[in-house]
Amino acid sequence: MSNKEKLKIAFYWAASCGGCEVAVLDIDEAILKVIEIADIVFWPCAMDFKYSDVRAMEDGYIDVTFFNGAVRNSEQLEIAELLRRKSKIMVAFGSCSSSGGIPGLANFYSAKEIMDYAYLETPSTVNPNKTQPQVKSTVKEGEIEIPTFFGRVYSLDQVVDVDYYIPGCPPVPDQIVDAVLKLATEAPEKGHVFAGDKTLCDTCELEKHDKKIEKIYRPHEIIPEPGLCLLEQGIICMGPITRSGCGNRCINANMPCRGCFGISPNVIDGGAKFVSALASILDVAEEQAAEEITKSILDPAGTFYRFDLPKSLLHGNIRKIEEAIK
Ligand code: SF4
Repeated sequence: MSNKEKLKIAFYWAASCGGCEVAVLDIDEAILKVIEIADIVFWPCAMDFKYSDVRAMEDGYIDVTFFNGAVRNSEQLEIAELLRRKSKIMVAFGSCSSSGGIPGLANFYSAKEIMDYAYLETPSTVNPNKTQPQVKSTVKEGEIEIPTFFGRVYSLDQVVDVDYYIPGCPPVPDQIVDAVLKLATEAPEKGHVFAGDKTLCDTCELEKHDKKIEKIYRPHEIIPEPGLCLLEQGIICMGPITRSGCGNRCINANMPCRGCFGISPNVIDGGAKFVSALASILDVAEEQAAEEITKSILDPAGTFYRFDLPKSLLHGNIRKIEEAIK
């Protein structure tokens, strides 16, 4: 891509909280560097663009699309496919797009369970007619249609071809600027992840002393000793299996890593790998004692697969696994 031509870039927001869109604004004055080299041709969250504007573009017209959010319904799939066709480069932007992220935790439940809970079972729901959304409904003005809610959540690369990844919940400003500037000059090898190649632990400055742990604490239950590894103090920190590159922001604020930069290279299943890392530092001699300690971890599956469930080996089919081992 020539330096003289301005990049045509697009942003899209699928199944996500919108934090990735805010992260774009967080780049502050670096936006001046970006607008020197790029024009935004589609950003429905910030400007009044329509899907018809994208459909009218020639295939490959957009240089880079930053697609945030997972794919949960038919509209998101349709736009992912449309933007893929219209874009030379497709970037999975943020954890939800890269690996399913927080919306991906819904894969622990079926679509029916989610709908029943949201529309019938929550304590605050009053729905005597048991009304639930239908894809097609007839109203006096005619027939209306809403997107189909899929049976599971997909990461972007599970539905379209993805060129690059910018993980993070949300990505950090330096990383976004670095990615845009690199893509404008010399694009890296396909599949490149704009983050570190090491684990967060490898870049963490907190001291480790090979200390075994006897008790697990939630962050609000303990004031950690400054300068020491949080995991060795009994706080679940996902550093051993998480990709570095975030600037260790949570750790620097005395908070454990939640794993939002995704699993580090060579890790196949983040949750399984973390269980193995945790087991190796538990100070227990008997299985029963280990069970007692691990029982104190609230929502272990949600904790260990918080950002990667749709791409894990588990895939969220926890019930199938439970049935298989009965
Ligand atoms: Fe740092 Fe967390 Fe790794 Fe400990 S487990 S070294 S606190 S990243």
